[in-house]
Amino acid sequence: MKRLEGKIAVVTGGSRGIGASIAKELGREGATVVINYNHSHEHAQKVVEQITAMGSSAIALQADISEAEATKIFIEKVLEKYGRLDILVNNAGITRDKTFKKMSFEEWHKVIDTNLSSAFNTCKIALPAMLEQKYGRIINISSVIGQSGGFGQSNYAAAKAGLIGFTKSLALETARGGVTVNAICPGFIATEMVAEMPDTVLEAIVAQIPMKRLGKPEEIARAVVYVCESEYMTGECLNLNGGLYMQ
Ligand code: NAP
Repeated sequence: MKRLEGKIAVVTGGSRGIGASIAKELGREGATVVINYNHSHEHAQKVVEQITAMGSSAIALQADISEAEATKIFIEKVLEKYGRLDILVNNAGITRDKTFKKMSFEEWHKVIDTNLSSAFNTCKIALPAMLEQKYGRIINISSVIGQSGGFGQSNYAAAKAGLIGFTKSLALETARGGVTVNAICPGFIATEMVAEMPDTVLEAIVAQIPMKRLGKPEEIARAVVYVCESEYMTGECLNLNGGLYMQ
């Protein structure tokens, strides 16, 4: 028996990067995985095929999770199809880096809506179902930047720090209901999001990481499985950052 056999999992932004790795790892452990995406239909479909090849079930569903109504329809579709939802990974995220002086209102709101309000949007519909079934694992993918701040990242840092506060508050409210709520704070992970950074900036970042390398998406994915299996951990923030930031 695989470790997550019988579980229904949703991964937002599961089409690429860390989310795709999380979706595959959950599938490898036997979960049925719903891969949410916004634009990358082909990438999402490829993840579905990879999970199916492992012998687990997967589907891809498009929804812009920064939009409350679209997210409601998306999560309701999952509940209608499977009758339950056990694991919700709020992973989808974007960057719109600019120094505060240059940052537009649009760039501020876009990042807050996509990286923070999205978790409210999904949980608003998923949590009542989890409490009803007396089981749930909510995992919010925050960031080391939410803990340390980041130059040119006031929007991103605010959203990611907000996710940590959201995680702890929701954990308090759900602790007696069989639902755990935890956050994972990755450091710098080798995905397209990081590849967008200029080489010189990236080299300077790696030089500051005690392990002297970027993290791998699979390393975050394995932490998600660990959180799924943890019965007594809630309101926690797991740091996977190669020693870059220690609390
Ligand atoms: P990525 O490679 O850029 O992938 C982002 C994913 O989010 C894509 O699947 C994208 O789907 C999805 N997405 C973006 N906006 C969406 C929306 N409105 N609705 C639905 N899906 C949306 O990013 P990543 O590096 O894997 O990052 C994943 C998460 O980890 C993010 O929350 C990020 O902030 C966090 N994180 C990343 C790092 C890092 O170093 N990479 C470090 C710390 C935390 P489409 O392509 O379909 O739009």
